Amino acid sequence: MLDQIKQDFGPRYTESYFERQFYTRDLAYIPNFLVSLVAKPLPEMVVRPVNAEEVSRIVTFASKNKTAVTPRAGGSTAVGGCVPANGGVVIDLNGLKGVVELNLDQEKVTVLPATTWAELDSYLRQQGYCVCSYPSSINAATVGGWLSGGGYGMGSIRFGPMVEQVSSLEVVLPSGEIKRLNRTTDPPLQWFAGSEGTLGIITQVEMKIRPIPESMGHYLIAAENSKALLQAARECVSELPDIIHNMHFNSKLLNDSLKRKGLTEEKLGDYHSLAIDLEEKNSSGLDETEDFLQKIVSKYGLAFMDQEIAMEEWETRFQSLKIMRVYPCLLGAEVLLPVASFHRYVEQVEALGRRAGVKMLTYGHVVSREGAVVMTLYPSDERQTWRYLCDTSLMREIYSIGRRLDAIPYLTGFWNTPYVKDIHSRKKLRELKRRKNLLDPGDIMNSGKVYRPPLLLQPNLYHLGMKTLGLVRRIWPKGVESHDRQ
Ligand SMILES: Cc1cc2nc3c(=O)[nH]c(=O)nc-3n(C[C@H](O)[C@H](O)[C@H](O)COP(=O)(O)OP(=O)(O)OC[C@H]3O[C@@H](n4cnc5c(N)ncnc54)[C@H](O)[C@@H]3O)c2cc1C
Repeated sequence: MLDQIKQDFGPRYTESYFERQFYTRDLAYIPNFLVSLVAKPLPEMVVRPVNAEEVSRIVTFASKNKTAVTPRAGGSTAVGGCVPANGGVVIDLNGLKGVVELNLDQEKVTVLPATTWAELDSYLRQQGYCVCSYPSSINAATVGGWLSGGGYGMGSIRFGPMVEQVSSLEVVLPSGEIKRLNRTTDPPLQWFAGSEGTLGIITQVEMKIRPIPESMGHYLIAAENSKALLQAARECVSELPDIIHNMHFNSKLLNDSLKRKGLTEEKLGDYHSLAIDLEEKNSSGLDETEDFLQKIVSKYGLAFMDQEIAMEEWETRFQSLKIMRVYPCLLGAEVLLPVASFHRYVEQVEALGRRAGVKMLTYGHVVSREGAVVMTLYPSDERQTWRYLCDTSLMREIYSIGRRLDAIPYLTGFWNTPYVKDIHSRKKLRELKRRKNLLDPGDIMNSGKVYRPPLLLQPNLYHLGMKTLGLVRRIWPKGVESHDRQ
């Protein structure tokens, strides 16, 4: 079977060590020796199918041989979800790209899974339509990858997580069977949303689209006090959930670091900022909303930034990692947080940074009336392995702050498996495991992810290890700020 696959796939099949190496990591850098203690990230082979039938052939082969399968698309995550935990086959899905069908009457598009959000949106805009929501990693993130993960991003306040826009899926199940799913099939498509590639491989997505909005308004509100700004954010999102397209917070420390490299407006560097981007059917609707925003700004003692600065923030909304031009090596933690706790999270994480002698740079998107996806990054230096390892202990402390404020890690993948019992309630986890056992009894599909940690990442061991690294970090003579490349 494998010989036939090799022959048919030709250069789209590889066992080359050089080529396989590229699949041993995602956005996060983890020192090799540490990864190999807990996982087998080097796949034995990588294949690049171009249609569902080819995906099915590989999965059938893997299923018969009890070989692990790791689906990978944009590779734009940092929790090890698209990196093998147990070797096996990586299915690089980037050959499954493009629009299959556009139905403007029903406002639906059917698309192949490795189409990036930028590719899909620009295709739709040529027809006068656009996507409802998208991740801020629009240029790298794929439709299948985002559906398999959290599915929250820009547009989510109004349209909900991505799964709410999906009406049908084609998936290759761990048995190799190709199945078309909707909300009432067995299994329903909802099982695959957020399953992080552990239940099957999504090979087609049918989803809702919408006409390009007629009017947009961009506002940037600034404040020295993050509490007032984030309380204002909370009030805005509960009053205007149907017209807010995007609500993005940047902490003062982040703006200040960007300012120093000329990567944001000079004026913005002294403030926390909140970008609010609105969509309306017509501009008179926007005028009314502007009055509301004006009242909020006065009520909380905030200030509007100039319109040009607001426009610049909008135009650079996909560049949240430009901070890497200031700090080329960043560690970080991302949480899904109640909006009500957002300001306390920022205060407490910054206090942690002061104690630890490191800048905690926070940004986040409000994604619903209740929740925000919030990323905290801090500088380190991957060239100094032990220093870097000790710095990872701060990720645990950020998650601990989040936990006290009812936040959970945003994705699980491999590296957040020690938190799996925090991420899901006991009942939910039992149900997720039931689905996994039902569809993938041999545990081949993205095995080693999501449901339980490997031995060395068991919560007790993990927390002990992290605490020890934290202690070592405290007595380490050289502070991380020495890597500040100002
Ligand atoms: C600057 C930046 C901004 C970001 N903004 C957001 C954001 O706003 N919202 C957000 O949710 N995330 C965000 N992310 C994280 C990431 O980009 C997204 O989650 C993205 O959707 C992942 O898609 P991908 O194609 O890169 O998937 P990958 O990283 O390749 O894979 C992610 C997971 O999905 C699985 N998978 C991929 N494709 C399939 C498939 N077809 N079938 C089954 N499983 C599959 C993989 O096995 C893996 O577990 C951001 C990242 C960066 C760097």
